[in-house]
This record gives sequence, C-alpha cells and structure tokens, in this order.
Amino acid sequence: MSAAAFVLAINLFIAGVFATAFGVVAAYARSSVGARWLALAYGVGMLNPLLELILPLQQDPWLVQFGIFAAYLFAANFIVVGLARHYRLTPPWSALGALVVVALLINSQTISMPRDSILRGLAYQLPYSIASLMCLAIVLRFRRRKVLDVWLAVLFGLSSLQFLLKPFAAVLLGSGDSAQAYIGTTYAALSQSSGAMLLIANGLLMLLIIVRDAMAEITARSETDTLSGLLNRRGFEERAESLLATALRTGIPGAMVVADLDHFKTINDSHGHEAGDRVIRAFADMLGATADERAVIGRLGGEEFAVFIPGTNLPTARLYAESVRSGFSSLSIANLGPDCRVSASFGVASLKAGDSLSDLLRRTDAALYEAKKGGRDRVCVSEPDAEMPPAALPYGERRQGSRQRD
Ligand code: GH3
Ligand code: MG
Ligand code: MG
Repeated sequence: MSAAAFVLAINLFIAGVFATAFGVVAAYARSSVGARWLALAYGVGMLNPLLELILPLQQDPWLVQFGIFAAYLFAANFIVVGLARHYRLTPPWSALGALVVVALLINSQTISMPRDSILRGLAYQLPYSIASLMCLAIVLRFRRRKVLDVWLAVLFGLSSLQFLLKPFAAVLLGSGDSAQAYIGTTYAALSQSSGAMLLIANGLLMLLIIVRDAMAEITARSETDTLSGLLNRRGFEERAESLLATALRTGIPGAMVVADLDHFKTINDSHGHEAGDRVIRAFADMLGATADERAVIGRLGGEEFAVFIPGTNLPTARLYAESVRSGFSSLSIANLGPDCRVSASFGVASLKAGDSLSDLLRRTDAALYEAKKGGRDRVCVSEPDAEMPPAALPYGERRQGSRQRD
C-alpha cells in the first residue's frame, strides 16, 4: 500500500467518524440544524477517498475522477450550508448553485488535461478554495464570535490558501503521468496528508462549536420560564448569586425587589386561567421594561417575581418598585374588561455585608409580607429609615420619560 493510499484510508475513516458524530449531535440536539448538513457533508465526503482508492483500478478513469471532484465539491458546499444554518444566517444559495454548476462544467472539460497543467490544477482546486472562503466569510459575519469561532475562521483561511497552493505544488513535485499513477506520488502523499490534517482540525472545531452552542441553548432553556420569558427560579438564583458575590467582593451596593400579584386567584376564578396567564406576562413585561439593564429578573413561581439590581441602593430600588407598581395598577389588560385593574405588592431590601442570597430574599419577603398586611398595592422596604427622597422622580419616569403615576 502506498503512503497516499494509506492516508486515503485514514481520511475515509475520519470522514466516517465525523459523519457519525454530527449525525448523533443532530439526532439529540434537535434545534441544531447545522449538524444535519455537516453530517451530510462528511457522509458525501466519504465518497471522495473511496473513489480515490478504486481509481488506480480503472481502465478509463474519467468518470471516477469526475466523481471524486464532484463528491468533494458537494461536501464543501454542504459545509457552507451547515455553518450558515448553525450561525443562523441565510446560506448563500445562489452563489453555491453557481459555484457547483460552473465548477462541474469547467472540470468536465479540464479534468482530462495533463495532470501537471496549472490550468487544470486551478480549475480543480479553485472551487474548494472559494467554498472555504465562503465558510470564512460566514464565521466573520457572526457577531458573537468566541475563541473557537475565531480559530475556525483561521482554519478556513488556511484551507482556502492550501487549495490555491496545491496546483503549484503539483507542478513542482509532479503528480503522476496518469490518474492511476497519482496515488504513488510524493505530491499525493503531501496533498492527502495536509487535507487530512485540515479535515480533522476543521471537523473537530465545528463539532466543538456545535456542541458548545447546543449545551448553551439547553442551559438557557432550562433556566427560562416559558410563560413570562423571564428567568425561572433556578436561572434567577444562579445569576443573582453570582452578581451578589461580585457586589460584596467589590463593595458596590445591590438591592432586591420581590413582587406578588394581589388577589390573583380571583382573576383566575373570574376570568379564567388564560386571562391569568396574560396578566403574568403583562407584569413580567413591565418589570423588564422598567428595569435597569444590569437587573436580573426572575419569576420565582406562580405570581411571584424577584429582581436583583446590582449597583443600586435602597432608595433607587424603591423608586423602581414604586414605578412598576403605579404603572401596573393603571394598566388595562386585554380582554379583562375596561375597568378591571390588577395590582401588585412589593418588598424591597438592600444588600448588606455578609449576606447570602437567601438572607437578602428573607428580608425582602418580610417587607413584601408587610405590604400585603398593610392593604396590598404598595411598596414596603425592609428598613424603615430608607424613605423615598421627595424631590426624586420615579425610576421609570427617569428612564422612559412618560409613565403615569396614580
Ligand atoms: P394575595 O393577594 O394574598 O397574594 O392572594 P393571591 O390570590 O394572589 O395568592 P394565592 O397564593 O392565594 O393565589 C395564587 C394563585 O396563582 C393560585 C394559582 O392558581 C395561581 N397561579 C399560579 N401559577 C399560575 C400560572 O402560571 N398561571 C395562572 N393563570 N395562575 C397561576
Ligand atoms: Mg398573590
Ligand atoms: Mg403568591
């Protein structure tokens, strides 16, 4: 077995491993549409080394040679589509279609030319180089690039360059007098080895990126409340705990607001559960629209919400709660009747040295209990001396300009 044939067998194995790996990811992470295309790409790509291996046995190699070129071309195009799908971009369908048609047409004419012709080499390698450049462009268009994405962009740049250099290397080293002789040449061994290295590196990086993003999506979903779109209790506790630890370490202030809808059971009883759900969504929207960008907002359960605001002291957090309270109690909710209003009660507490999240939530809950006991539709703070400065504007008015107060 020649060195190149040995590398070809390895390439076949590698492509098979990646086709299986992407297929498994696609089957388990249903939202990972990119993985399906990449499984297809590596599956089709397996035809390339398979056909290369049977090439020396052919009397007339034209068809198998053309098949080798076409298999790799389709595999490269499916990678472009898979990457675009993964990064939620529209695949460049027209460009890909044009690339396939033009490349197949040109190569049907040039593939039988002398093997050391630069023209033949360029016609053969340029489409692969262009497909790699398209992959590079897709990664660069993705705005939330992280380290792995940057490495992938570098690899596609190198791949593109490698394909461009191959025709010149073929002329320099000699790529065999015939298609059948190609596999025994040094050029074939080099070309197949560099191809194998890039195949592994590209495949591995794309697999890592897809698994990374699938895991991030699963985590985000497990921490999101589907009704309100806010964090659920688990997500809230996770984020709030980390922000709270940072605030305590750096000495910046922090405050917690908890809210509970008033007489919510009667809304469900008189208007139905769906109407209750609409109220929950409306309240969640108001909490989010009025909050500071740094705030972490969660639905802790039922009709109970919590907001942790780092960098905010007690009076400002109280202004925020007051603003949500007044805005919500004057809000008319769709299909609930023009005069039906829902209110909420709020508890506010500020972060103290040595607090854990449950310490802070306990004090905030105690303040909420006071608000309920005091007649509902009000804000209570856990420290009686922390009054709202009389001249200050409500939090929401400062941010949004035109919120009505009651
Ligand atoms: P209070 O003013 O003392 O808070 O009284 P309340 O009626 O708001 O409180 P209570 O705890 O008695 O009732 C809460 C209700 O919230 C009971 C439950 O059916 C309802 N609830 C919990 N989760 C959901 C939900 O996801 N959707 C709807 N529509 N209702 C919910
Ligand atoms: Mg309630
Ligand atoms: Mg409740």
